[in-house]
Amino acid sequence: MSAAVVVGLDEVTKHYPGGVHALDGVSLTVRYGELVAIVGPSGSGKSTMLHLIGTLDRPSSGRVEIDGYDVATLTDRQLSALRSSRIGFVFQQFHLAPGVPVLDNVADGLLYAGVPLRDRRRRAEAALVRVGLGHRLDHRPHELSGGERQRVAIARAVVGDPALLLADEPTGNLDSASGAGVLALLRELHAAGTTIVVITHDLEIAAGLPRQVQMRDGRIVADHLTPVAVAG
Ligand code: ADP
Repeated sequence: MSAAVVVGLDEVTKHYPGGVHALDGVSLTVRYGELVAIVGPSGSGKSTMLHLIGTLDRPSSGRVEIDGYDVATLTDRQLSALRSSRIGFVFQQFHLAPGVPVLDNVADGLLYAGVPLRDRRRRAEAALVRVGLGHRLDHRPHELSGGERQRVAIARAVVGDPALLLADEPTGNLDSASGAGVLALLRELHAAGTTIVVITHDLEIAAGLPRQVQMRDGRIVADHLTPVAVAG
């Protein structure tokens, strides 16, 4: 049964010095193929949870299982290999390399895998076509709109075919039309089989996604499917 689970958090806590309980006993299961929104006000623990799911950090207590691995059993080096091969990240600030053509920004998403340059570029082009930017391969990030930059970042995140795409406020820097386009793209990727966890403080965005996990004060206070998702 656990083979179907890509994210398993069991009674996870994260404490910071000074008595901050950023996560206070969180249990969550995400299965392959889901599209989940983690929603909550600023300070509720969303980023802390994203860091733990993204294996960028370890919990103070509790169990974190990602893509079948209990992270407590992995060395830092193994964790970093798991992260680079199995998890794609998308951030509010895009994090593209300035001055580097879009094609190479995306191709660099495959550096870890030791894929030869020609194959990296071929796969990057396919990923860019997939996000609707097949006509922008030679552009530099500064020549693109915010919405296009986020599409490039998404192409880079999925070019290695990760088990999990983690998006942290992916529309936070975009106007509402570009933001809606990025969300539509995430829904398309999900429909094609990509597993996605999106962090947002925006209830409206969360309401448009099939499952919403609501955080408050370091705890999950609600976890429900939208009626549309229930109806199939
Ligand atoms: P959100 O992403 O929902 O805004 P965070 O996960 O960033 O929430 O923060 C949850 C709580 O943990 C907040 O009270 C925040 O101030 C605290 N926190 C987050 N990171 C750290 C840190 N590195 N050191 C101390 N406290 C932190």
